[in-house]
Amino acid sequence: MSQRRKFIKQSLMGSALFLPGLSAACAQTNEKTAPAGEKPLILSTWNHGVPANAAGWTKLNESGSILDAVEAGVRDTELDLTNLSVGLQGLPDREGITTLDASIMTGDGSCGSVAFVRQVKHPISLARAVMEKTPHVMLAGEGARQFAIAQGFPMEEEKLSPNAQIEYDKWKVTSEYKPIINIENHDTIGMIGIDANGKLAGSCTTSGLAYKMHGRVGDSPIIGAGLYVDDEVGAATATGLGETIIRICGSFLIVELMRQGRTPQEACEEAVKRLVSKTKNIKDIQAGFLAVNKYGETGAFAVHPGFNFAKATASGNVLIDSNSHFKP
Ligand code: ASP
Repeated sequence: MSQRRKFIKQSLMGSALFLPGLSAACAQTNEKTAPAGEKPLILSTWNHGVPANAAGWTKLNESGSILDAVEAGVRDTELDLTNLSVGLQGLPDREGITTLDASIMTGDGSCGSVAFVRQVKHPISLARAVMEKTPHVMLAGEGARQFAIAQGFPMEEEKLSPNAQIEYDKWKVTSEYKPIINIENHDTIGMIGIDANGKLAGSCTTSGLAYKMHGRVGDSPIIGAGLYVDDEVGAATATGLGETIIRICGSFLIVELMRQGRTPQEACEEAVKRLVSKTKNIKDIQAGFLAVNKYGETGAFAVHPGFNFAKATASGNVLIDSNSHFKP
């Protein structure tokens, strides 16, 4: 566990973090059963979800749009220089190149994504541009980069961040591809939110697995895998080893299970069960899901302990240790 993560965990675990615009905090540390629904609400993965939720909440107050909120929220993480799994400061692939994946979706079925894109600081905003300005859902690689240029996105210099360079140099000594659960194979930010009127939206952005093969695309930009949103039912997002999440269409599966009457918590648990049943060497693999239904009830579940998420409501923005994981 990185020093930063330890620090944040120690500072925030079990306590409420007060943020501008949010009043009394809800000091909830363990969610074993689905809580009573609350709207508006924003949920996002991992420690960085706390500042991301705060940015999203501020935007929701300003613009009233849950879509604007989930974009603004994860843009905050895309700029976090200490995060080595999101944005251009993320760890590179095995060729030393950082490539990014992102998706965005609203509950009316509108969605956009970009995959394997380089030099774009805010892939989430590029995904939104794909959704709003093209007849397509997904653009990848050089085509996505060309679209970004045409849309006026600045192109960033292709240079590893100082932290990523240090880690990459260390990795090159052995060039061993062996992600360590809860450390190297996650940190994506997935965010799902619901406004006071029940409109849903979600976003997901990542630099993907560290030291992946050049060209590898994970679950995050794949609608239905890393993210799925339907106003009639709810929303879900994923983090962890993308290949395992893609195989079960994880986020879509959760939304469909909720459609059939499962609570968000039950749906997340069933998706993890499915993922485990389709995955060899599960002991080395972490994956986790977050879900919210149209009533504002939430769920979270992961393969292994260590999965946490941030939940913002009118009463506070708090980091929650899901403490809720698969038990064979
Ligand atoms: N899901 C991401 C991927 O496979 C990794 C992560 O959650 O950090 O690309």
